[in-house]
Amino acid sequence: MRPIRVRFAPSPTGALHIGGIRTALYNYLFAKQKGGTFIIRIEDTDQSRYVPGAEEYILKSLEWLGLQADEGPTQGGAFGPYRQSERKSTYHEYALKLVDQGHAYYAFDSAEELEAMRQRLMSPENPMPKYDFDSRDQMKNSLNLSLDEVQNLLQKNTAHVIRLKVPKGETVKITDQVRGEVSFSTQELDDKILIKSDGMPTYHMANVIDDRLMQISHVIRGEEWLSSTAHHVLLYRYFGWEAEMPEFAHLPLILKPEGNGKLSKRDGAKFGFPVFPMDWKTEEGEVFLGFKEAGFLQEGLINFLVLLGWNPGDDRELFTLEELVDSFSLEKIVKSGARFDFAKAKWFNAHYIQQLEESRAVEIIHSIFEKHGVILTPHQAMLTFKMYRERAVVLTDFYHSGKFIVLKPDKADEEFKTKKWKPEWSDPFLKLSEQMNQLDNFEKTSLEPLLKEFMQTHGLKMGELLPSLRVMISGIPMGPDVYMMLESLGKQETIERIKEGVVKLKH
Ligand code: GLU
Repeated sequence: MRPIRVRFAPSPTGALHIGGIRTALYNYLFAKQKGGTFIIRIEDTDQSRYVPGAEEYILKSLEWLGLQADEGPTQGGAFGPYRQSERKSTYHEYALKLVDQGHAYYAFDSAEELEAMRQRLMSPENPMPKYDFDSRDQMKNSLNLSLDEVQNLLQKNTAHVIRLKVPKGETVKITDQVRGEVSFSTQELDDKILIKSDGMPTYHMANVIDDRLMQISHVIRGEEWLSSTAHHVLLYRYFGWEAEMPEFAHLPLILKPEGNGKLSKRDGAKFGFPVFPMDWKTEEGEVFLGFKEAGFLQEGLINFLVLLGWNPGDDRELFTLEELVDSFSLEKIVKSGARFDFAKAKWFNAHYIQQLEESRAVEIIHSIFEKHGVILTPHQAMLTFKMYRERAVVLTDFYHSGKFIVLKPDKADEEFKTKKWKPEWSDPFLKLSEQMNQLDNFEKTSLEPLLKEFMQTHGLKMGELLPSLRVMISGIPMGPDVYMMLESLGKQETIERIKEGVVKLKH
């Protein structure tokens, strides 16, 4: 069997949508499972669509998710360079070979001439005329011009492209690992441009050549590329590489939440969820929300994404990256589109938050608070984790729920104040705060006996004491374990809040 080598080949034309991340993930899993090589190749030959910062964004996103490449623009490798713009001369040589062999040709048509051809040939039977075996005879190309004329035009640097000469009346077949037998009639295919007038190869040309030169064994990519595969197969054939052609696996689309159509980058803002791995700011200043900034753990996003288009064949749902490396298989990729279900993404995330190791949780929570200008002690961060690990759905919930540690409540819960709080409790609570001041340590072991005694002395029930304390501390009667709340605040701050709370609760 040939060595397994797969590539993820993004174009740096903007941020990588989660569909792209899923493609990278499937490639990664397949490579790791088979002991193969996972390659990143940057397909940056379309200069008009190049977006500064996009490559960096893509690489950072993969790094954040732990999808470490074995070869790529950062790590290098024996098949580099891994940026297509740095391989330009290679493509040109191959294009000239095809021209020599009669499988490609120079075309000198101007934009006006192309448009005139379309107008001329447009008819009800042919609403979108193509540059193909029917029309190419009427065009200004090296198939129709004499050798001298062609030489002359080339010498004068006349703008031109190189096109693939697609044969007439053939059927091109592929066996796709996901879709099975797929065939294309060459009647449907145009004479694709291989080398553009700026000398750069098109996607098709560069993609096929690099897949061959990098010895790619399996091409795992989005369904939108399925129709291009026909041209790719012709290229493999004309280069004499048919025997080495990679296997193809085209992944199903990721659909909008209602299942109607492909999930687009605009859907994030529309539905209020992220569709990008990390925040992406466009040059125009528009910001697209990322899963990372929305408070997702890598594990949560990966587990969510992997099941958009693949299932293990049984009812397991929870998988770590390592478990996926064991379980993943191309055979279990589904043909139909996968609906993006954000509730499910949150469910996975909540699960992985609960599973977090304490030391990692402390670091994460520390950095979330830091983003809001608050430095927690490791002990406070640990308590915050313990208080909310069962309730947090996204990591930012730790801040939104736990910020009482650093922010005094501005008022007391109105309903509690009017319906539950009894004015005669004020003095006992003030006394309690004084007793707290006497405590040497401010942990449950010493707080619990104190509160028990307080309840007995003043005839308060647990259901009266705990909500009262929470309202004083955080403004609301519900919340996590009161002892942890008190401990996270510390003695002095608790005492202050009780004193202020009594005032706020007065009515
Ligand atoms: N550069 C293409 C993209 O942006 C790669 C398609 C492929 O994997 O062949 O998705």
